[in-house]
Amino acid sequence: LIEVEGLRKSFGDTEVLKDVGFAADAGTCTVLLGPSGSGKTTVLRSLNVLETPDGGLVRIGAASVDFDNPSPLKSARRTEVAALRARSGMVFQAHHLFPHKTVIGNLVEGPIQVQGRDRAEAEADARVLLEQVGLAGRETAYPAELSGGQQQRVGIARALALKPDVVLLDEPTSALDPELVGEVLAVIRDLSEQGWTMVIVTHEVRFAQDVADQVLFLHDGVVAERGGAEVLTDPREERTQQFLRRVL
Ligand code: ATP
Repeated sequence: LIEVEGLRKSFGDTEVLKDVGFAADAGTCTVLLGPSGSGKTTVLRSLNVLETPDGGLVRIGAASVDFDNPSPLKSARRTEVAALRARSGMVFQAHHLFPHKTVIGNLVEGPIQVQGRDRAEAEADARVLLEQVGLAGRETAYPAELSGGQQQRVGIARALALKPDVVLLDEPTSALDPELVGEVLAVIRDLSEQGWTMVIVTHEVRFAQDVADQVLFLHDGVVAERGGAEVLTDPREERTQQFLRRVL
């Protein structure tokens, strides 16, 4: 479902991504790990073109953008990027919910405004999603009335409300108080089991061991090691071993 080839990105003189490539099948969970500053977030944001790569190819389903050979027509390029963006939903570190909208209002905003969906239908879908993230009955609450963990679960449900092919999660628990991390990870694990395709940047190595079908270890702008969850317990590369020794 996802294909990334030769992804490159520099910020000023810093070459953050030199040549990143990977693929992921539908229904799988890919976890991106690596030292701070290794470019994990940049990879994730490139998938959604929140960051424009300097080169490389990103494909999700039938939508793709070849950043090495951009369409010469600006409008055609914009259409390509919009089509790729529509394939994924992003969950940020902090949830960025609309504070003046209720929980259900937050969930239906995108489907109605961006996708032009019918309100009643969007609300019915939103109720199902809220149940899946353990928030049935909180439809009319405002974000400020919820705990940080609940807010982040609304943030996850909001990403899913757009029915993306791929859910991108950028350190979804790192802004939470430690006691709230577990409930959010449990929701993510459930959604993965239900078959959502996910790419997650996380520092929670034990959680990664649990959910990852594929682990990508980023180092020096490349995927230094990749494999199944066994990479986490039995890494081959010295760099991966060092990293895991530090965080475990
Ligand atoms: P962390 O685990 O600390 O979140 P990361 O592996 O996700 O790190 P990125 O956030 O992708 O790493 O950042 C990689 C490098 O690129 C860092 O050195 C960062 O300072 C730099 N960087 C990221 N975004 C920008 C930007 N918009 N402008 C300038 N530099 C940036």
